[in-house]
Amino acid sequence: MENKITVDGLTFVPYITREEIDKEVKRVAAQLRDDLKGGNPLFLCVLTGAFIFAADLIRETGLNDAQIAFVRYSSYEGTTSSGHVKQLMGLKEDISGRDVVIIEDIVDTGLTATLMVEDLKKRNPASIRFATLLHKPESSKTGFKPDYVAFTIPPKFIIGYGLDLDGKVRNLKDIYVIQDQQD
Ligand code: IMP
Ligand code: MG
Repeated sequence: MENKITVDGLTFVPYITREEIDKEVKRVAAQLRDDLKGGNPLFLCVLTGAFIFAADLIRETGLNDAQIAFVRYSSYEGTTSSGHVKQLMGLKEDISGRDVVIIEDIVDTGLTATLMVEDLKKRNPASIRFATLLHKPESSKTGFKPDYVAFTIPPKFIIGYGLDLDGKVRNLKDIYVIQDQQD
């Protein structure tokens, strides 16, 4: 793990290691495995940030009959939420009667999550579960509560393991926090 990373003139320091991520991903996967007990859920990976978490999570669930689909939303500009959520890629799959598990990288204001769940409910799924790698409850503008959370964190800007700064650094294996927001 690098002890400092600079992106677009901003400095980031280590925050969550790949070992800690691995442990919590396995814990959430075990919960999903228990809750879905051999079913055939549809995992809905929210692009772009959740693709790495989703890849690790679904492989740990051992749910071989599960399927995966992708949706894409965007709300962030640089290091803050724009407050406007754009749907960039919708869902073509029929989800009626399916157990849907949304997989998101991070719930911040909760605007994206709320919009997505409302939208999916109209398509008559059997159930909707929401799994997120990270949750910043103090940033919530909606009171949205994810069903599965790997890490609950304070409202600090973070990067790595799928999370980006203007599209960059998603490839980092560990999670880093912006330096001036470190305790
Ligand atoms: P929300 O609609 O405000 O909950 O925003 C959720 C989206 O904002 C996430 O899917 C991320 O793409 C992005 N986001 C929120 N916080 C961060 C962060 O700390 N780093 C990188 N992206 C973030
Ligand atoms: Mg996102």
